[in-house]
Amino acid sequence: DRFVSPVADGEEKVIEAALRPKRLDEFVGQARVREQLSLVLHSALRRGRPPDHLLMSGPPGLGKTTLAMIISGELGMPLRISSGPAIERAGDLAAVLSTLSEGEVLFLDEIHRMARPAEEMLYVAMEDFRVDVVVGKGPGATAIPLDIAPFTLVGATTRAGLLPAPLRDRFGFVAHMDFYEPADLERIIERSARLLNVRMDEAGGAEIAKRSRGTPRIANRLLRRVRDYAEVRADGFITEQIAQDALSLYEVDAEGLDRLDRGVLDALMRKFGGGPVGLSTLAVAVGEEPETVEVVAEPFLVRKGLIARTPRGRIATPAAWRYLGITPPLSVEG
Ligand code: ADP
Repeated sequence: DRFVSPVADGEEKVIEAALRPKRLDEFVGQARVREQLSLVLHSALRRGRPPDHLLMSGPPGLGKTTLAMIISGELGMPLRISSGPAIERAGDLAAVLSTLSEGEVLFLDEIHRMARPAEEMLYVAMEDFRVDVVVGKGPGATAIPLDIAPFTLVGATTRAGLLPAPLRDRFGFVAHMDFYEPADLERIIERSARLLNVRMDEAGGAEIAKRSRGTPRIANRLLRRVRDYAEVRADGFITEQIAQDALSLYEVDAEGLDRLDRGVLDALMRKFGGGPVGLSTLAVAVGEEPETVEVVAEPFLVRKGLIARTPRGRIATPAAWRYLGITPPLSVEG
C-alpha cells in the first residue's frame, strides 16, 4: 500500500470521521465551490424544497464525502450513504430509493461505477421521483411504477468523463474540486493538530502542507505519521526539521511526490524517452492498474506541470526532466 495513497482504508475512516468539518464555514479552501454550494443550499432552504441534485467531481481525498455530509447537515436532513460498486443490480437501487424519506440526502460515491440498469433507474428517479419495479420475467414481465419521496442525490466521482450524458445532465450543479493550495492545507493541518492534541509550530505545519500533494486526506495522514516520529524521536513537538526528517523517512519528497508519482515519471522518461506513451502502456511499466495511474498519479502530475496529456499520449514536460535530474533526448528540448 502506498503511504500517500489518497484512498482511506478501514481504520483511517474512523480517524477521518473525527476530523471532518461539520459545517460549510468550517470547510477550508475550495472557495468557489463553497460559495456556489452555499447559494444552492440557502435558496433551497428559503423555498422550503429539496435542492437540485449535486455532483462532486475531483480526485480522491479532496473532500467530496465531507461536502455530502455538510450538505445534509446544512439542510437539516438525514443522510443515506451508498456507492456505485455496492449497487450491482437495479433492485439494489430500488431498495434504497423506495425507503428514502422526504428531503433525505442520498450520497452515492463512485457513481461512475454503477451497473447500467441501475443507472437507468436512477435517471428516472432523479427526474420524476419514480422507480419502475419490474415484476416477473420474460415476455410476461411488467413494470410497476412506484412513487418515491423527493430526495436530493449527491453523487461523487473521480472520473466525471465516464458518466453517461443523461446522468450528468440530471445534476443541477457540479462542484469541480481541485487540489488545495499549501496555505489551505496549512489551515487544515492546524485544525487537525488541535483536534488531535498534537503540538507543532508554524514551520512544522507548513512543511507537512507543502508535501501533502494538494490533498487534505494526505495532509491529515502525514500529520499523524510526523506526530509518531516526533513522539518517538523527540519530545513530541513538530518543527520544520522534525517534519522534514520524518517525511524523508517515509519517502515523501519536498514536492509531495510519492513512490508511484516518481515511478510514473521515471518510466515515462527512461523507458519511453519522455513519450508520448499511452496510459495502459505506462501503467504496465509501473505495475499498476491504468485506473490507478489515471485517477491517483496523473491529475497531480499534470497539476504540477510535470506531465501533459496529448491526443497521442502522455508526455514529460521540461520541468519533469529537471525534476528527475536527467538530460532529455535532443528532440525534447527541440
Ligand atoms: P473524498 O470523499 O473526496 O475522497 P473526504 O471527504 O473523505 O474525501 O476527505 C478526506 C479527509 O480529508 C477527511 O477526513 C476530511 O476531514 C478531510 N478534508 C477534506 N476536505 C477538507 C477541507 N476542505 N477542510 C478540512 N478537512 C478536509
